[in-house]
Amino acid sequence: MSLVLNGIGVSRGVAIGKAHIIMRGSIEVLESAIPPQFIEGEVTRFMNAVETARLQLNSIRDNIPADTRADIAAFIDTHLLMLDDATIVSTPVELIRQNGCNAEWALKLQRNALVEVFEQMNDPYLRTRRDDVDHVINRIQRILVASSQGDNRAEDSLLGAIVLTDDLTPAETVVLEHQGISGFATESGGPLSHTAILARSVRIPAVVGAHGIQQYIRDGERIILDGQQGILIVEPDQRTLEHYLEKEAREEQHRAELASMVQTPAVTLDHAAITLMANIELPDDIEAVARENTNGVGLYRTEFLFMNRAEPPDEEEQYDCYSRVIDAMNGRPLTIRTLDIGADKGVDRSGNRCSNPALGLRAIRLCLKDPSLFLPQLRSILRASSLGPVRMMIPMLSNTQELHQVLNLIQQTKDTLEREGLAYDPHIQIGGMIEVPAAALSAGAFARHLDFLSIGTNDLIQYTLAIDRVDDEVNYLYDPLHPAVLRLIKMVIDAGQEAGIPVAMCGEMAGDPRYTRLLLGMGLTEFSMHHTALQEVKRVINQSAIESLAPDVEALLRADDPARILAQIETFNNTLR
Ligand code: PEP
Ligand code: MG
Repeated sequence: MSLVLNGIGVSRGVAIGKAHIIMRGSIEVLESAIPPQFIEGEVTRFMNAVETARLQLNSIRDNIPADTRADIAAFIDTHLLMLDDATIVSTPVELIRQNGCNAEWALKLQRNALVEVFEQMNDPYLRTRRDDVDHVINRIQRILVASSQGDNRAEDSLLGAIVLTDDLTPAETVVLEHQGISGFATESGGPLSHTAILARSVRIPAVVGAHGIQQYIRDGERIILDGQQGILIVEPDQRTLEHYLEKEAREEQHRAELASMVQTPAVTLDHAAITLMANIELPDDIEAVARENTNGVGLYRTEFLFMNRAEPPDEEEQYDCYSRVIDAMNGRPLTIRTLDIGADKGVDRSGNRCSNPALGLRAIRLCLKDPSLFLPQLRSILRASSLGPVRMMIPMLSNTQELHQVLNLIQQTKDTLEREGLAYDPHIQIGGMIEVPAAALSAGAFARHLDFLSIGTNDLIQYTLAIDRVDDEVNYLYDPLHPAVLRLIKMVIDAGQEAGIPVAMCGEMAGDPRYTRLLLGMGLTEFSMHHTALQEVKRVINQSAIESLAPDVEALLRADDPARILAQIETFNNTLR
């Protein structure tokens, strides 16, 4: 019988494939008896696992960045030394021979014995060495568990697999995408995490908050993952499989219908031309900008250039990268957002160790604190602006002092480039993201000094409703239709209109067709979203008349009851074909 696990669907699509479990938590080990004739084979399997652990640790040590703290490097040396220690290597071999048990079990027995010794030590330092023992033993244990399941975790073995894990960082998601996985599910995480956004962007069906993966699913089992409904079906029966294969085919057909609208412009029934732009993260996304016939890029998340590496890219590397993107844009405008690392986009460089990373040294705060990180980016964006239409956008502004600091730095950078005889666009537009409630409430003050605003609803909702966007425990509170959120959005749109500057929205709300009519009625005319949502949103725009939506939206903004707001949105949408 098949089993169903529920989570939150964060990236639409159906994936059917074999489960590939990557758990960083504890490993379940069972005892099994080894017949006498296979004992020496089991000893060899154990020794091979120790050797593989040694190779892994050596490779980690060889790749340690030069600026890593010495104690971290020493840590790895300690672990390597432990692999030569008789208590970790020889005793399990003796246990396999004496007890006729599997290598995993022998290692577990020895681990328990060692932990007991450490627990009895009075010296707190020596007691912490217990963690080292655990790390080394877990490393060997993982290799053994994988080998007993016939899984050597070769990189190409992930092709078509559905990765099931406790958690994934955006950086790991990038790596897995390159390895050709067909879907992933995590036990933790939320729909607004950068990992979820990335999954949508690379069109990998994904589910987050799927509790019980470790408990109920085994490596290699056949899985259906439905990224829209947020479910995982383990070992589906034939009927279920056929149902999902049909669903997959229907999805394909729906995508083909939307693709046929690509050349149709986004214009409402009352003739308002709407700007539709793409959010891009990875170099591969650029191709979609032209393919989907967008009005340009409304958000280029540059932080992905800084991930999966020890050192940040220098000015030249960034300049080369932005130049290539500008070239591929073929004259369409590109909005480059300055670095937004910290919070769930942990990049080692941020060294972010505070207890509330989302409220800490993130995005522009980190950049202003660390000019060695920020200035090369400012220089490279400015230099690239001489090659095509480029706008610069600053994330996470919370007060106008920060804005003035940034504007001063930009001016100083322009002056330096001028002195050096390097080209840049002297009229480059500078915009700010409004994603902190304080900035939304004082949007007028920002609008007076900037060329455009862009509403980042992912963070605006997180900070307005005090819900961590990656915490699945509080995800149920995430609500773009909360009256407070809607009023803040309206304030920003009005502030932009008053100052005579454009206001866009680039958070996930902009790419959700359920909210398109609401946003049109609020006066939004620029939408930026992951490219997979563009045609769907355009379909709604082309069936809507702003004049007839506006009075109802005005009434809706005065409502305090979320249920009434939701009912009104459904009324807006029920004439959609
Ligand atoms: C946002 O916060 O809405 C946004 C677009 O930025 P990010 O998701 O990268 O934080
Ligand atoms: Mg944001």
